[in-house]
Amino acid sequence: MHQLHDPSLLKTLSYINGSWHASDSQIEVTNPATGELVSKVSNAGVEETTLAVKAAKKAFSTWSKKPANERASLLRKWFDLMMENQEDLGRILTLEQGKPLAEAKGEIAYGAAFIEWFAEESKRVYGDTIPAPSGDKRIIVIKQPIGVVAAITPWNFPNAMIARKAAAALAAGCSFVVRPATQTPLSALAMAELAQRAGIPAGVFNVVVGEDARGIGKVLTEHPDIAKFTFTGSTQVGKALISQCASTVKKVSMELGGNAPFIVFNDADIDAAVAGALVSKYRNAGQTCVCTNRILVQRDVLEQFTEKFTEAVKGLQMGNGLTDGVDVGPMISKQAVADVVRLVNASIDQGATVVLGNNDKSLGENFLSPTILTNVTNDMPIAHQEIFGPVTPIIAFDDEEEAISIANDTEFGLAAYFYSRDIGRIWRVGEALEYGMVGVNEGLISNAAAPFGGMKQSGNGREGSKYGLDDYLEIKYLCMGGLDK
Ligand code: NAP
Repeated sequence: MHQLHDPSLLKTLSYINGSWHASDSQIEVTNPATGELVSKVSNAGVEETTLAVKAAKKAFSTWSKKPANERASLLRKWFDLMMENQEDLGRILTLEQGKPLAEAKGEIAYGAAFIEWFAEESKRVYGDTIPAPSGDKRIIVIKQPIGVVAAITPWNFPNAMIARKAAAALAAGCSFVVRPATQTPLSALAMAELAQRAGIPAGVFNVVVGEDARGIGKVLTEHPDIAKFTFTGSTQVGKALISQCASTVKKVSMELGGNAPFIVFNDADIDAAVAGALVSKYRNAGQTCVCTNRILVQRDVLEQFTEKFTEAVKGLQMGNGLTDGVDVGPMISKQAVADVVRLVNASIDQGATVVLGNNDKSLGENFLSPTILTNVTNDMPIAHQEIFGPVTPIIAFDDEEEAISIANDTEFGLAAYFYSRDIGRIWRVGEALEYGMVGVNEGLISNAAAPFGGMKQSGNGREGSKYGLDDYLEIKYLCMGGLDK
């Protein structure tokens, strides 16, 4: 029915302790492009989550002791299987999430790249020796896996947000329990099927699917056997989960919301800036945490940039992600469309002008056509809220100082972008932006080799890169004493 080469990748039960676990009720997974039922998935709850934590605790005792190269070769097999099944995994992802198939396959490769990366990094968890302050002592530092890791992930990257966390956790020697978003459980379950085929032992990687976000979340943030909690999602939910983790002083890492500025200076290569803004804004229908949220353009190139950008956006084709040539798919839900439209209307009421965009609903109620607003000012709500949809507000500025001030005028600090060819300006602006990731003359910044994460209320911790294992390791210091004769 779903035209998969391997239909057995479409799983419908939670994956706990190496086996598939049925529950009494079911969740319906629907295609956001058509509203059609994709699959019914068993609806697990607190009881199943507790079972998964117990299994992960047991598995930790053996997984953490496996030599790093054995863990690495199992992760490598998992990576290979993800890539061998990229077409099917991409299709499942498009069916449940909506993004165009090419983008979905790109997400599979992106997610798998983290598994490959951390398979390699697992062999490089080095310790240290430190000169001791007295002659009869030696100071040695070792790094050990922290323990059972719990994760909650969002619907916008149903594969990669899990892969980025699980790869690092498993490579470090931790076991892992994840609850994927209710709207997109199928990609997570397909990953579990491939983990099983790769030979990752029972209990090391568990997926609990259930719509009781609060109940399951409470177990994952408060269970004393969980040492570390990692979350990707909104800042609002992240804050609540951090406070829940306080009761057992868990180590937490948070990948939260963003409000990315995209700054175009008057010395920029305008065509390059247009191309960068296009991919950074309209990928995944604007529903990524690092998506450009607002474009700031220096006043003397405002007209030139706006004209070229509008032409480029007009060329984007919107439609069902499974149709060839589609660039922009549906949004995740009718509610998500309504939230973005409300923000657009509020901006219009306050003086913004629509230069592109319409209310055409012929494709279905989850579609919102790519929209551009000009005459936007920094005091409008759209400049401060995460839009999470295919809408671009354009704000004019006069000089570098003003651009930096507007860019930093937000509680978020995830990604920022700017285009300039002046080397002095590049250093000044790069250092002044209060963001964890800055694209300089580049609109696509995320890959497994680079540290992904935010400042301010966009979160803490880093995923990917040589720093990514740190979130899953404890530093232990051994003091060797009594060495004098
Ligand atoms: P969300 O509402 O915060 O949901 C994220 C996850 O948390 C979902 O699995 C959700 O479950 C669950 N959840 C919601 N309320 C909960 C609660 N009280 N207790 C436990 N779990 C709870 O965010 P979203 O709308 O799905 O995702 C969009 C947000 O994620 C945006 O703000 C985006 O910027 C952010 N994001 C950040 C990054 C990053 O790396 N920084 C990456 C991607 C997305 P349900 O599915 O059942 O609602």
